[in-house]
Amino acid sequence: MKSRVASFALTVFMAAAVPAAAQGHRTPPPDPAKVPAELKLAGDPALSAEWSASRPVPPPSRGPDGAVGSLSYVCRACREAGHQRADAGTPVLPSEFLGRGAAGAAAWAERLGDAPSFLFATKKAALLVVAADLAAPPMSAAEEARLRTWFPKLPKKLAKLDGHQLGHLYADRLAAVEADLAAALELDPAGDMVAAGPYGPPPAARTDVLLFGAVRGARAAADFFFDVDAWFPGGGLFGGRPVVVAHAADGAAAHRRFAFSCALGLSRAVLGAEGALPPWMRVGLAHALEARACDVADESAVGTTPPDVVADAKAADAADRDAYLRTLIDAGHSGQWNALCLASENGLSTRSRMQAGSFTRYLLGVDRARYALLVRTLASRGAGAAKDGAFDAAAKSAYRESAAVLDEGWRLWASGPGPGAAAK
Ligand SMILES: [Zn+2]
Repeated sequence: MKSRVASFALTVFMAAAVPAAAQGHRTPPPDPAKVPAELKLAGDPALSAEWSASRPVPPPSRGPDGAVGSLSYVCRACREAGHQRADAGTPVLPSEFLGRGAAGAAAWAERLGDAPSFLFATKKAALLVVAADLAAPPMSAAEEARLRTWFPKLPKKLAKLDGHQLGHLYADRLAAVEADLAAALELDPAGDMVAAGPYGPPPAARTDVLLFGAVRGARAAADFFFDVDAWFPGGGLFGGRPVVVAHAADGAAAHRRFAFSCALGLSRAVLGAEGALPPWMRVGLAHALEARACDVADESAVGTTPPDVVADAKAADAADRDAYLRTLIDAGHSGQWNALCLASENGLSTRSRMQAGSFTRYLLGVDRARYALLVRTLASRGAGAAKDGAFDAAAKSAYRESAAVLDEGWRLWASGPGPGAAAK
C-alpha cells in the first residue's frame, strides 16, 4: 500500500464549523398538554431495555472437543488452530480487506502499528486488530466471562491482554453493536434491511474496521486514509465501503468511541447510499448505540463529537450531554428536525449531533418497532429522504404524529429529569 492518495480516494466526514440549520430560532417551552399520553416517556428505555430478547445470540460455548462455537463472530487465528468450530450460521472470514488481499492488508497494518494483527469477522463487518500486550481495559462481567470461554487459561486477576485476547474482546463489542443495530432497525436474520418501498433493499455490504492497540498506529492509518488532522471517529468511505479507524488506548472512552464509529460504519453498510437517510438520523442512531455500549462519566472525554467547532466549543466541552441539552431546550434553542434534514453530515454542529442522539433515544424508547418503520420509510425514499418535510411525512406514517408533536414530546422528556437520571 505505497500509492497513498491514488489508491485510497477516501471520502472523509469531518465536521465543519457550520452551525445547525435554524440556529437562533427560539422555540417556546414544551407544553405537556400538546403531548399525547403515549408519547410521554418515563426514564430511558432505549438505554435500559434488553434489546436482544427478541433475537437472542447464544454466548460462545466450549464443546467436549475443546473447540469454541460462536454465532457472533469468527476469529481467523482460532479457526486455523482448530480452536473455533465452523457451526452453521458462523460468520465467514473475508478474503480481502480494505480493497486488497487480506494478507497484504494485514502486513501493511502490522508495519503501521508495529505489532501482530488478528482478523475477525461478524455478519456485517471485518475487523483487523493490530496490538501487542497492553493493560487489560475495563470490561463488564459478561464480557470477561465470554473472553474466558475463549481463553480458559487467563489468570484470575486480569492485569494485561495480548493482541489476540484484545481482538476477541473488541470482536465481541463489535458484535454487540451489530446486534443492537439489528434490533433498532429490525433487520432480517442475515443483518440486511427489510425492503419497504420502491427502492427495495440496498445492496448487501459490510464495513472494514481497523483497531490499533496504540494511538500511534491509529493516527498513522487515519493520516493515510483521511486528511491529516481529520477527526477520525466519524470514519469514511473507501471504494464505496465504509471504513472505521480506532484505537484501544484509553480504556472505557475507547470502548464508547469504538461503538460510535462501528455503529456509523455498520449503518452505512446496512442502509446503503449516504443519501438513504438524513445524516442527523444516522449520527443520532450512532450516538444512541454508543450510549448503550458503556457508561463514561465525562462524555467530553469520549471524543465522539467533533472537536474544534468554534461556534460549538461549549457543546464539545460538555461532560454531560443530557444536562447540556436541558439548558439548550430551556433557552429555546433546540434545532428543527425538518430543517436538520437539509444539513449534510459535514454541516451538523456538535449540538445538533447531541440533539440527534437524544431524540433517537427518545424515539426508540417510545416504540422501537415504530422507529424501525420510520427508518425503513425514509430509506425507501432514497435521496428524497434528505429533503425538507420528508421527516414529517415519515413520522406521520410511522408514529401517527407530526414531527412537531414528536419534537414537543422529546423536549418535554429531555428537559425533565428523565434521561440523565436513568442513564447515569
Ligand atoms: Zn482467536
